Amino acid sequence: MVETSLRHGRIFQTILYCIAFACFGTMSCQAKQKTEAPEANQEITAAEDQPSSMIDIPCFVYHRFGDNRYPSTNVTVPEFRSHLQYLKNEGYRVLTLGEAVKIISRQEPVSGKMACITVDDGYKSFLQGAMPLLREFGYKATLFVNTETVGAGDYLSWADLQKLMQEGIELGNHSHAHPYFLNTPEQERKAVFVSDVQKAQDLFEEHLGIQPEIFAYPYGEFDQIMEESLRSMGFIAAAAQNSGVLCESSNIYGIPRFPMAGSYASQQDFAEKVKMRAMRLNYKGPVKHLPGETNPPVLILKTNEEQLNISELQLFVQGGKGEIKSTGDGYIEIRALAPLQRRRTLYTLTARAKEGGHWLWFSHLWVRPEIKE
Ligand SMILES: [Zn+2]
Repeated sequence: MVETSLRHGRIFQTILYCIAFACFGTMSCQAKQKTEAPEANQEITAAEDQPSSMIDIPCFVYHRFGDNRYPSTNVTVPEFRSHLQYLKNEGYRVLTLGEAVKIISRQEPVSGKMACITVDDGYKSFLQGAMPLLREFGYKATLFVNTETVGAGDYLSWADLQKLMQEGIELGNHSHAHPYFLNTPEQERKAVFVSDVQKAQDLFEEHLGIQPEIFAYPYGEFDQIMEESLRSMGFIAAAAQNSGVLCESSNIYGIPRFPMAGSYASQQDFAEKVKMRAMRLNYKGPVKHLPGETNPPVLILKTNEEQLNISELQLFVQGGKGEIKSTGDGYIEIRALAPLQRRRTLYTLTARAKEGGHWLWFSHLWVRPEIKE
């Protein structure tokens, strides 16, 4: 009983952190903003405690390494080592985001336990703080680069990026100017977005001879216009910043990632997140991220009854309280009890899985672009 309460306490702390980071973590973007592991390519079977049709890949987003000037977006080098050591000890296969997407879409074989490391903004501290450890452990990562600042101040140069690419680091497009695209009026958003993202693609081509296939939304903010633009430009996937686990039914143009930084980046914090599983949900109707005139916004979802009991669902609303109501036709409605006051607000659902007792996680991001930060 005591252990159960403690675990609930830890999970709640994790939720608070992930919610807090949605505000503070992305501010950095604004600032510009023992056992032996299996061999990497050995035959690995699907996770033993769930059907092979279910794939869970927890993805993490980092920003800075060993750079204590920005504690809310930084992990210390010893903390990052402890994360990699945990993955090795527990036999995880570490993937780039491009590899994870190919596994999810069944273009590559499913492995046992998998996790994905991504890094946003292309700061120099990635080369100095993270790369020596990634080399030591033999792990890859995906680096999302906003091209306007390459080579300036705190940012990696094109020569740095060339060398990283040769070492197996996957490069992704993080826009050119790292703007708040949702601040652009809806009727102009597609043109502004496509123009900026294409500018970054052109610079990748010019300096590195590549056209990245994956994208990460600045500040994690996106809508269907941006998703559809990326599809039509040929991107195979896009990463968001709301916490959660990539799974076989995820929207691969809004891949959730757990933020790792600040005072919640211990090995224990990391281990709890890496063991999370995706809560399988279906949205009713089109998926919206801008509340518009309906504030607080309502999300109508259908949970998977085989995965969880609805009565065990817990809802967390950033900066307030929320409620869950059953609609009687198999769907649930979730909403905040008061109008959302922040630019970004997450609705986060958690529950214990019926089988195996894992924690399940889902979050949905709402953005009010009229609120500036
Ligand atoms: Zn960023």
